[in-house]
Amino acid sequence: MKRTNSELLFEEAKKFFPGGVSSPVRAFKSVGGTPLFIKKGDGPYIFDEDDNCFIDFCASWGPLILGHNHPVIREAIIEAVHQGTSFGAPTRRENLLGKTLIDNNRFIEKMRFVSSGTEAVMSAIRLARAVTGKSKVLKFEGCYHGHVDSLLVKAGSGLVTFGVSTSAGIPEAFAKETLVLPLHDVLKLEQLLSQHHHEIACIIIEPIPANNGLLLQDKSFLECLRLKCYKYGILLIFDEVISGFRVGFEGAAGIYQIQPDIITYGKIIGGGMPVGAYAASAEIMSHVAPEGPVYQAGTLSGNPVAMAAGLAAAQLLLEDGFYEKMDVKTKNFVQIIQKHADQHNYPLHIPQIGSIFWLAFSRERIYTAEGIDASTMQYFNKLHKFLLERGIYLGPSGYEVGFVSSMHTEEILAEAAQVICAGLDFVFGSDSAM
Ligand code: PMP
Repeated sequence: MKRTNSELLFEEAKKFFPGGVSSPVRAFKSVGGTPLFIKKGDGPYIFDEDDNCFIDFCASWGPLILGHNHPVIREAIIEAVHQGTSFGAPTRRENLLGKTLIDNNRFIEKMRFVSSGTEAVMSAIRLARAVTGKSKVLKFEGCYHGHVDSLLVKAGSGLVTFGVSTSAGIPEAFAKETLVLPLHDVLKLEQLLSQHHHEIACIIIEPIPANNGLLLQDKSFLECLRLKCYKYGILLIFDEVISGFRVGFEGAAGIYQIQPDIITYGKIIGGGMPVGAYAASAEIMSHVAPEGPVYQAGTLSGNPVAMAAGLAAAQLLLEDGFYEKMDVKTKNFVQIIQKHADQHNYPLHIPQIGSIFWLAFSRERIYTAEGIDASTMQYFNKLHKFLLERGIYLGPSGYEVGFVSSMHTEEILAEAAQVICAGLDFVFGSDSAM
């Protein structure tokens, strides 16, 4: 497969951007090789600058649940652009999208649009601190919440799980405001809360952790968080930047039937344009300026073109049976691969929920970040290379999940599954083709 144009563009990009990219994981550091420069997308496919075609399971890291360049979304964007691209003033389209989201999601009453998932999370934490008058944040190892200072933090060593920053440029004092626990561990949660509850403003979790593999939690763990938060006057934040409108219109809150205090959204609500949001009860949202004292603003927030894209997408997602179909076809796809792996006794387990899946090179279900054996990433890297050569694009890291879109037909998924099965044969040695 020819990659000349991508290689030349990447060399040029390195002159302009750190590492040649606008966001780190795009640089293919984990899997090696040159990142593909993408020229266009169409339905389930992307095309690179060398005119190679790939079945895309990255979906712009989740937003494109309706595939690339969906005609309805495209037309809505074009129509909006004809009327101007930004006003910095309220628009009817904001109302329409807000109403559509709130009327069809029992877990939110009011919301504020922002422009990214990071912004949504950052604002939700400020809101939680203001509402509770407390300052510390409790997060879980293996959950990603954007690049906000206080959340680029992992567990420190020792008994007390005060955070240690995972990025340069974050003052120690900021990292100390964050407490970190492993997922799926009620005992540690109870111990920590009994000591620190009076300092903790919020517990933030990806209810469907999908940034470090797909670490599906037991419902009972999420319920336990809910109860502890009520008990100790802590706000529970579900970060649904990935799961929101992906696993159902009500996201993970709807799947597990758990009412969080604040929910953060991103990705899908913009229909492929930059939109994020945080949402809560009317009472909690009344703390946000100009109604309340929590300042949060944005020049491009509620951007009319992004609102038009989000609205078009939301209307398609609300069609009867949309999520059921997504779940069934993703399950079928995953089952073909799992069956093949089981028949050959390959160490592979594929957690799946709705249209999200993860290729975990393990024989058992994994619940925690620590449970992932980093040495198994060599299998993923080998598989990634094999698939890329054969027209299948997975996110360029074994810790990333895959996304199926409504444009991935059963036939396309069956074709992709066959190639992935051949890739597993190659990785585990029963076939030497590359
Ligand atoms: N929260 C979660 C759960 C995410 O997956 C992401 C992005 N992958 C973010 C927050 C940050 O969103 P963004 O990249 O739009 O800033």
